[in-house]
Amino acid sequence: MNTQRPKLNAERMARLVEISRVLNATTNLDHLLSRIISEAADLTNAEAASILLLDPKTQQLHFKASSNEVPPELANMAVSLDSSIAGAILTENKPMYIQDVSKDSRWNQNVDNTIAFRTRSILGVPMHNVAQQPVGVLEALNKKGGGDFSVQDFETLSILADIAGVAVEQARLFNELQQANAELNELDQLKTDFIAIASHELRTPLSVILGYVSFLRDEAGPEMTAQFDNVLQAAVHLRALIQDMLNLRYVDAGTAALARKKVDLVSLVQEMNLERDETAVAKNQTVHVTLPDQELLVLVDQDMMEVIIGNLLNNAVKFSPKGGRIEIKVQRQGREAWFRIKDNGVGIPEDQLERIFKRFYQVESPLRRQHEGMGLGLSIAKELVELHGGRVWAEISNRQGSEFIIALRLELPPTGLL
Ligand code: ADP
Repeated sequence: MNTQRPKLNAERMARLVEISRVLNATTNLDHLLSRIISEAADLTNAEAASILLLDPKTQQLHFKASSNEVPPELANMAVSLDSSIAGAILTENKPMYIQDVSKDSRWNQNVDNTIAFRTRSILGVPMHNVAQQPVGVLEALNKKGGGDFSVQDFETLSILADIAGVAVEQARLFNELQQANAELNELDQLKTDFIAIASHELRTPLSVILGYVSFLRDEAGPEMTAQFDNVLQAAVHLRALIQDMLNLRYVDAGTAALARKKVDLVSLVQEMNLERDETAVAKNQTVHVTLPDQELLVLVDQDMMEVIIGNLLNNAVKFSPKGGRIEIKVQRQGREAWFRIKDNGVGIPEDQLERIFKRFYQVESPLRRQHEGMGLGLSIAKELVELHGGRVWAEISNRQGSEFIIALRLELPPTGLL
């Protein structure tokens, strides 16, 4: 056979280009391979065509598709590499043309018997992966009318084999990716379940501790008060951590768990009495709240809004010095209601402004950090705000510290009624 690349006619070229286009548009390997098979038979004027793929584990070939619709018996049939024509094409990694298979000792009659077809001649080419290793074989069988396959047929089949090789590789990578993704999801679910169970199980013994410590503190003499207060403080802190973990449940339950109502954000903030927040008072910090005169109606789950605002305030208190100042402002911003909370604390490096909203993420390394917490508060706040269709983000404050802003869509009367 002449090894110089022959010119293919325009129609063949157009059909090959069309198949590559299909390759880019589909992730359905079976569909694509069937298409390649039917084009291979049609363009080379063969009675049939087939694709055999190498199983990397068993190192045997299997029929993946053929123009006779691979019957299950054929798909299950393993074709060994050392006693078949397809095996020879693959192991020698070169095209072969067998004009009369009956004279070839490698010819395996079983295949013909299984699909009731009589093979006379085979033109076969290896398919390659991107590393140029052979991964399968594309064969055209019996030139129609009994003639010989041409150099153009060989060239056409080679191009189709290249396309099929890429498709097989693409499907393998796609499968691997899907599998990795499924494993990640499973791990994520295990982690979520673990957190839910652990936090739930921790809550009951902790309530017992809190109850008994409060009781013993009152019963014991004043000389023991300081010691009991320490235990009490630690238990209260533990309760806050557990509450964070429990709040993850709401997030994972999604919008279904939200009981949304029309709520005035201004009254909601007013009722939370943030100026008197115990933790801020304990650090001698001032919390200054500025509210607008008008109502700002938003469609929210009130309890969830309190969790979100509580988490932002906790952080502002935690990351600001003793005697610090926290400024809270609720305002209308176009068609949105904004809740802003600004502190004069340690601030956030600019390149971490997005990352701090990821679960368990903390700016300081968890092993060297001075502040308590698990890195859940902000991720819960963000996920809950997003469940409400809103946005939350952090900004670096002009002077010192950081600012967090929540934006929620306002429930406005229809414009015609204004
Ligand atoms: P936690 O506070 O439990 O560590 P969060 O998810 O609430 O977890 O916050 C994640 C990280 O974001 C914190 O560890 C901290 O590094 C940073 N951060 C959050 N709020 C502030 C703030 N107001 N000022 C400075 N850093 C903050």
